[in-house]
Amino acid sequence: MSERFGGSFTQQEPIPEAGIEAAMAVLRHGRLHRYNTAPGEVAETVLLEEEFAAYVGARYCLGLASGGAAMACALRALQVQPGDPVLSNAFTLAPVPGAIASLGARPVFVEVTEDLTIDLAHLEAQAMASGAKVLLLSHMRGHVCDMEALVTLCDRLGVRVVEDCAHTMGAAWKGVPSGRHGAIGCYSTQTYKHMNSGEGGFLVTDDAELAARAILLSGSYMLYARHRAAPGPEVFEALKLDVPNVSSRMDNLRAAILRPQIAMLDDRRARWRVLYQAMEAGLAGVPGLRLIPRPQVEDYVGSSFQFLLPGWDGARVAALVAAAAARGVELKWFGAADPLGFTSRYAHWRYAAPEALPQTDRILAGLIDMRLPLTFTPEDVALIARILADEVTKATKAGTPAQVAAPVAVPAAD
Ligand SMILES: *Cc1c(COP(=O)(O)O)cnc(C)c1O
Repeated sequence: MSERFGGSFTQQEPIPEAGIEAAMAVLRHGRLHRYNTAPGEVAETVLLEEEFAAYVGARYCLGLASGGAAMACALRALQVQPGDPVLSNAFTLAPVPGAIASLGARPVFVEVTEDLTIDLAHLEAQAMASGAKVLLLSHMRGHVCDMEALVTLCDRLGVRVVEDCAHTMGAAWKGVPSGRHGAIGCYSTQTYKHMNSGEGGFLVTDDAELAARAILLSGSYMLYARHRAAPGPEVFEALKLDVPNVSSRMDNLRAAILRPQIAMLDDRRARWRVLYQAMEAGLAGVPGLRLIPRPQVEDYVGSSFQFLLPGWDGARVAALVAAAAARGVELKWFGAADPLGFTSRYAHWRYAAPEALPQTDRILAGLIDMRLPLTFTPEDVALIARILADEVTKATKAGTPAQVAAPVAVPAAD
């Protein structure tokens, strides 16, 4: 009888007891708004910002209502104007182009490589062709490009970088925390990310003017002096009448839930890596399947797992997804004709009028994705890998040799 997996791919760990207790204290005193403090009290949100800034080594940090709000706030702080082109990865999730579109700006998509990172040659070409001065760089599914090469290129092009670290909170590149390579780093604390407050986000920067603009934008009224991971009042004085309030604040309840989780990030990364490496080991050498190489210098978190099925036609991939689902393994496929759940691709973002990107189409046509929640054990992961290896092997044997050879062209995505 074939093995079956019975666990849930969407079940996260509970909020730590310290977070529950701190949240109860906030509920009991009722001062949930970040600027509602008793005499002498420092708000949970303010402490959270200070602690997260220290964790990533940033001068300034701002808590926000979501990761998407953090990205939009970052772009506004950089004074992106309606109609401006903003570079971004073609392989990312909907809130990234959505943040660009929320300003009336225009996403300019860049091809993805087989390693699932941004294609630097295409980035340069798109920057030159569009004249874009900002890149919203998504470290999609935690895959980080050569950050030294990227920063050198963007400096040369005069392009400022905003990092979307939704999948790299707690990760580093050559020892530099993710989010600390560009002008601004953005993070999400939505339930499926590396810290969980339901919804929430941060941005960090070392630039005093950007930090002041972001704080004013988030809806600080004239209470910006209450922030601690923030520049001095003189920086705000020069800006406070010119920067609009686009309310998107973090609140004390979420901050209370999040504060104890910062100290857990490094341990969570280590535990995620164990699961990731168990999956990698279980799928190594399976014919017809390509694993994504991870550079030595990339200290990744591994909260999800991807692999490619190069050259597989759509019907065969769809059959694999269905066969895996029948055995309890929930896969997501970036090549499906229609967007499903959280999974969509650039061609589905019609408001952005995307131009066709043949390399991205070819790669996403065979891209499989799955979550690895920390509620999985290494034994769970080994079982999932056995099921996948079995189903991929069956599908490969049933196929013609051409289907397991070098990648072949597939029709452009719709
Ligand atoms: C989750 C996510 C975000 C931010 O999402 P929010 O739900 O707005 O917090 C940004 N980028 C990527 C790639 C994401 O997966």
